[in-house]
Amino acid sequence: MDCCGEEGAWKGDAKFEFKRVADGVHVAVAQPAYKVNCNTAIIEDDDGVMVVDTHSKPTAARVIVEHLRGMTTKPVRYVVNTHFHWDHWHGNEVYPAAYPGAEIVTNQITREAMVMKGFKRIGDHRRQMPADIATLEAGVAAARGDQRAKLERELALARAYLAEVNALKPALPTIAFEQTMKLYRRGREIHLLHLGRAHTAGDVFVYLPKEKVVITGDALIGWTPFMGDGYPEDWAGTLDRLAQLDFTHVIMGHGDVADRDWLKVFRGYVSDMVAAVREEAATGATLDEVKQRVTAKLAPVYEKPFSAYGDYRPWRAGLAANVERTFAMVS
Ligand SMILES: [Zn+2]
Repeated sequence: MDCCGEEGAWKGDAKFEFKRVADGVHVAVAQPAYKVNCNTAIIEDDDGVMVVDTHSKPTAARVIVEHLRGMTTKPVRYVVNTHFHWDHWHGNEVYPAAYPGAEIVTNQITREAMVMKGFKRIGDHRRQMPADIATLEAGVAAARGDQRAKLERELALARAYLAEVNALKPALPTIAFEQTMKLYRRGREIHLLHLGRAHTAGDVFVYLPKEKVVITGDALIGWTPFMGDGYPEDWAGTLDRLAQLDFTHVIMGHGDVADRDWLKVFRGYVSDMVAAVREEAATGATLDEVKQRVTAKLAPVYEKPFSAYGDYRPWRAGLAANVERTFAMVS
């Protein structure tokens, strides 16, 4: 185990690759972790910084703050949350603590979802983690060699995560908008947009028209989307409205920086999956049959492009969950 200090295991888990996307626009691309972290976009202005999304835990957000302190003396003025999922806002509390006066911004739907569902899920994590830890403890006791070392590391991370989630002081957005909010800074325009339902009911997109950069949250990611709180039938339409914007670079919720070609592939997957599920459901097939047939139908086109992070987030498992959600909605 490579940790001993209080924060050792936590810090070791939250790793980011920092990349420049445009002048003053950077992304921290999250590396695989025990508890998944989202990417953070960093937008620098003449008098301050905006960050988009704050990961699954405060220690991860602190890695970004440390990086920012090395990058600029300007304060973070705005923190944007793209949606209510835990891995995008549980680090919120770090920013107002580090930068007094920092405002946390999202739209009304997402703020309400944080209150209605987000808080409950924090409780779920607090309740579930002890069982996960017990399973890992049993695994460590039974394992040998490399496998044991791997499980020991996971166990340390799980214990650290439980301590963190127990200590969480969730910081809700302090500013909520309806459809659109635009910031006009001296050197930059920043548009916060709600384009319709996709990954959640309240997905927020951040658009920089001059720099031709868009930040999508999880409405567009580098692996198979999670649709558990999503709207598969609305998703492609929302992405079509996204496609109408003029941009060249996409900072996604997860995965590396992408371009318009990836948007096309991803949109194709969502709409082909929904169409295939509808078609199979209409024949009266069972869920298991629909899963099998839709997988067979889509694999030749989509398995490869959606397997760039295949070990971390396997396409077939993601697809099965997507089919299940869609089947429940169309049948
Ligand atoms: Zn999400």
